[in-house]
Amino acid sequence: MAERLSIRSRVPQNPLDEVKCQQLTDQFRQILSTKRMNSLSTGISISRSGSRSSRERDYGSPLPLPLSSAGNDLPAYNSLRNIPLIPKAPQDARSIRFRSMLHTLANMPCKWENPGLLDEALRVVPLERIYNEAQEECDVLNAEAASLGPNKKAAWGYQDCVIRALMRWFKSSFFSWVNNPPCSTCGTPTIGVGMAAPTPDEQARGATQVELYKCSFEGCGQYERFPRYNDAFVLLETRKGRVGEWANCFGMLCRAMGTRVRWIWNSEDHVWLEIYSLHRRKWVSVDVCEQAWDKPKLYTEGWQRKLAYCIGFSADGAMDVTRRYVRNFSRWGADRSRTPEPVLLYILDEIRATKRRDMSKQDKFRLEGEEMREYRELQGYVASAIAAEVCKSLPDSFFKGQSGHNRSPRPDPDAQKAAEARQNSAQADVDRTRIRGPNGARGAPNPQHPQNPPPPPPR
Ligand SMILES: [Zn+2]
Repeated sequence: MAERLSIRSRVPQNPLDEVKCQQLTDQFRQILSTKRMNSLSTGISISRSGSRSSRERDYGSPLPLPLSSAGNDLPAYNSLRNIPLIPKAPQDARSIRFRSMLHTLANMPCKWENPGLLDEALRVVPLERIYNEAQEECDVLNAEAASLGPNKKAAWGYQDCVIRALMRWFKSSFFSWVNNPPCSTCGTPTIGVGMAAPTPDEQARGATQVELYKCSFEGCGQYERFPRYNDAFVLLETRKGRVGEWANCFGMLCRAMGTRVRWIWNSEDHVWLEIYSLHRRKWVSVDVCEQAWDKPKLYTEGWQRKLAYCIGFSADGAMDVTRRYVRNFSRWGADRSRTPEPVLLYILDEIRATKRRDMSKQDKFRLEGEEMREYRELQGYVASAIAAEVCKSLPDSFFKGQSGHNRSPRPDPDAQKAAEARQNSAQADVDRTRIRGPNGARGAPNPQHPQNPPPPPPR
């Protein structure tokens, strides 16, 4: 009887007793947590026993995987989905083709690495003007930072300002955009009539494709050839083209100015660049056609385009940087089905290894450290995009609840700096326009502007 009583007394009288509920919840959490930890350590030991070092493994794609492609390589348990993927060699024909294409694309920025030609290229750049403009902008940024407080860092450094000045000069005074080349006899617009075989001279200068145009004026009938050169040093002479030529020639000039450059290939037929900012210790997007500096959301939120792959190739590396450009993958991500994600990792590892074959251990280590930092940066975008989505789905009352916390998000220091820099550059543009008159020396309206026709493919 006494025993029965004691049992009864242990059963909560009120089924919704808060303390008991809390205890049960805690117990349940504990069990779940232990289970997860067990599965997790099994998962880690599986991946550690893989063929690659943990550092190589950690380059993993910053993209959350579609279940279909993740399913084959990971245990089904949900909590394991965030474990870095194990690179996997391509096996199916489609993946092998993709691999071969990426290896070819990866050569693009290597063609710039010719010290003699880079020195030669600098002859076309008005260095004094570029350096003066850069110094001027840099002084303004430093003064602004100083006015904010004693330990404030300027939005951009001198080297960044040099590239920004180079970009303005390149578009306003050096390179021109070509859709249909005008008739060289009468200046009338031309109409595309297809492709032509390259002449021996065009071939010698690296053009494998030549577009053919016919003058639209009946009495003229002149044909115009537009060879698509992909040799940046030839482009220094022709000084015209579309987005492929622009990015190629400008990327080479950035190298000539001593900056590290990435050539970004995008699966939706666009190309642009990234330059490494020593001041900010990060890669910054640069689209010279658009005069866009550090505007990674331009293509998605600006142009309303969905992107699948954005892969950066430099002389010494390769990196999947899609997350920098596609912050919210559910909204702006396109189908990444060219190859399973572990295979993409394998291919990028392979390209990196090839490029770094003759590099010293120290240099390799430095680059790997840099990549880890970038990987964390890209992961941060994933996390903030998810957090933003979650916040949107919660009612306001949730944030004003018991804790009294407010909903205002924490300001992002990078975004603030970039905003400052944009303001500065806008002001600098206004100043320059004032000096040079309303048209200045700036180029023709860009066909890539969202209000203009959509851009043609890079090639
Ligand atoms: Zn004509």
